[in-house]
Amino acid sequence: MDEETYHFKLGSFECLALSDGTFTYAPPIFPPPPTFLFINAPKERLAQKLQEHNLQQWAEWVSPYICLLIKAGKHIALVDTGAGGLGPNTGRLLQNLRSENIAAESIDTVILTHGHPDHIGGNTTSEGKLAFPNARFVMWKEEWDFWNSEQAKLKLDDHSRDVLLAFARKNLPPLQSQLDTVDHETEIIPGIRAIAAPGHTPGHIALMISSKNEKLLVTSDVFLHPIHVEQPDWHAMVDLAPQQVTNTRHRLLALAAANKVLVLAFHLTFPGLGYIIPKGKQWRWQPLLDESNKRSKEPKC
Ligand SMILES: [Zn+2]
Repeated sequence: MDEETYHFKLGSFECLALSDGTFTYAPPIFPPPPTFLFINAPKERLAQKLQEHNLQQWAEWVSPYICLLIKAGKHIALVDTGAGGLGPNTGRLLQNLRSENIAAESIDTVILTHGHPDHIGGNTTSEGKLAFPNARFVMWKEEWDFWNSEQAKLKLDDHSRDVLLAFARKNLPPLQSQLDTVDHETEIIPGIRAIAAPGHTPGHIALMISSKNEKLLVTSDVFLHPIHVEQPDWHAMVDLAPQQVTNTRHRLLALAAANKVLVLAFHLTFPGLGYIIPKGKQWRWQPLLDESNKRSKEPKC
């Protein structure tokens, strides 16, 4: 498998998971990963979980950033645009599209799951032009309003405010004339439905993608790590409304598990695809690919 692109079919849709690169969250800029990702976890329980996941010596979180391209009938849709120039190893989306012979101009729909830098940072080029000039951009209305008003400034903590606002200012206003906001769960294009998934940010969305009888749930940042699937009440420093995050996780994890829906999670090991497996009253994450990158056919319950 090429580590930056992964092709898969969903009914009659052709899908392509695309890496935008990785970003390293580590001290001194960020707290150590266990604190950053599980800020409210009880100490002993956290130590036990980290041990179960072989993460006792976890000094840095190297997070993948995974965008998704869907050829859906006459549409070519892109979900999130990556981080642009956020870090030394980000901003690889455009070259990965080129290597697949997909012109940025051919993308007619760009869906932004939320307004964080790693999801909108590739909206514009270094010259400030739209990277996907022919696209209709779609975002949840509350999310757009949050980043384009004083709300964001007031609600963000000192640690991240400047970077987050700078990315929003650079990457959101230029698309305004091509923007379409949604304020209820609805089909964005045939087969791609917006699902309200607030908490991480006020208007964060997930997507349910359906073709024939196959479904893919794009969870974006509903959970950032497999441990969040096992502990849906442990939230990350970057989750703006913790109780809402927990509620959203419970709703979407139950939905994915009950219907054995394939899931794509933006921050998990590339290509970010897997299943939510019931485990007693809880859940666990099962990657689609095994260690040798072979696709396992059915979720193992
Ligand atoms: Zn993210």
